[in-house]
Amino acid sequence: MEPDKKILLKVRNLKQWFPVNSLLLEKKKYVKAVNDVSFDLYEGETLGIAGESGCGKSTLIRSCLRLLKPTDGSIEFDGQEIANKKLRALRPIRKDMQIIFQDPYASLDGRWKVGRLLEEPMIINKICSSKKERKEKVNELLEAVSISQEYINRFPHEFSGGQRQRIAIASALATDPKLIVCDEPVSALDVSVRAQVLNLLRDLQVSRKLTYIFVSHDMSVIEYICDRVAIMYLGKIVEIGSRKAIFEESAHPYTKALLSAVPKVSGEKNAERIILEGDIPSPVDPPSGCVFRTRCKYATEKCACEEPKMCDLGDGHMAACHLIGKA
Ligand code: SF4
Repeated sequence: MEPDKKILLKVRNLKQWFPVNSLLLEKKKYVKAVNDVSFDLYEGETLGIAGESGCGKSTLIRSCLRLLKPTDGSIEFDGQEIANKKLRALRPIRKDMQIIFQDPYASLDGRWKVGRLLEEPMIINKICSSKKERKEKVNELLEAVSISQEYINRFPHEFSGGQRQRIAIASALATDPKLIVCDEPVSALDVSVRAQVLNLLRDLQVSRKLTYIFVSHDMSVIEYICDRVAIMYLGKIVEIGSRKAIFEESAHPYTKALLSAVPKVSGEKNAERIILEGDIPSPVDPPSGCVFRTRCKYATEKCACEEPKMCDLGDGHMAACHLIGKA
C-alpha cells in the first residue's frame, strides 16, 4: 500500500461485541458494534473515519485506544500488541495515545483552573522533573494553541466553546503523544470557529509530527482535514482510500450515497442525490452476506448469501462490493 511509510497503528480483524441481556437465554446475542475491521494508520497522516450515527466509529476508536477490551482481533501500536494487555501494562503506552472529544465541557474538569488542567497529565505521566519545568511547559502549550498566558488562572466556563476546545487540545498535547484521536472535535462548535480549530490541528500536526484519527459524520470536514478516509457501515469498513479516491472515485454504493448528500461549495454541480431507503438494520442481527444489501439498489441474490471481500483498486484504495471488478 504505502511501503515507505511507517505504520503506527495496525488493526486486524478487530471485533467489539457487547452482550445483550435477554430473559430467554436460548442463544446469547451480541451488539456487533465493530465486526471484523482491519486497517493501517501511517505515521504523520490523518485518517478519517466516516459514516452515519451508529455505524461503530466511536466504538472502533475506543477499542483502538484500549478504552474497551476488544472481543477479538489484534491492535498493534508502535510495534507493540496491545489488544490483550492488562491495564497496568497499558499505562506507559497511554501517554502516547490521546483523545479529543466533541464536547470540551465534558472533558475538562470544571473545578480546575487552566494551569492545573494542563499540569495534571504531566503529573500523572511523570513528564517533567520539577514544578518549574511543568509551569514552563504549560506556558508553551498555551502558546501553541493561541491562548494567552494571562488566562492561566481562569476556569473552563470562563472561555468560549472554541477556546475550550483549544484548551482540550493543549491538554492532549501535554504528554507529547504520537497519536491523537479526534472524536467529532468541531461538531459542537459554531461554524465560524470550526475552520480555526481545524487549521490549528493541521499546524500542530506539522510542528509536532502528530498522527491523527479523525472521526466525523460530516463529510465536508473529513474532506478538509483528512489524507485518507475509511467509510464505515454497520460495524464494518466498506471502503478505504486516499481523500481523492474516496471523494472523486468512490466505488462502494454506500460511499456514493453518503457523498451525494454533501453540498459542493466550489460551484460544481452535485451528482444526483441518492436517497437511502429504510433504516440502518440492527447491529444485533445484521443482514447476511453484504451488510448494506437491505438498502442497496444494486443488491442481488449473491449479496444475500456471500459477504463481499475487500477488493484492491490500486494505491491503497479498497472497497467491499460484489459489483467491483465487473464491467
Ligand atoms: Fe450492494 Fe451487493 Fe455491493 Fe453490497 S455487495 S454494496 S448489496 S451490490
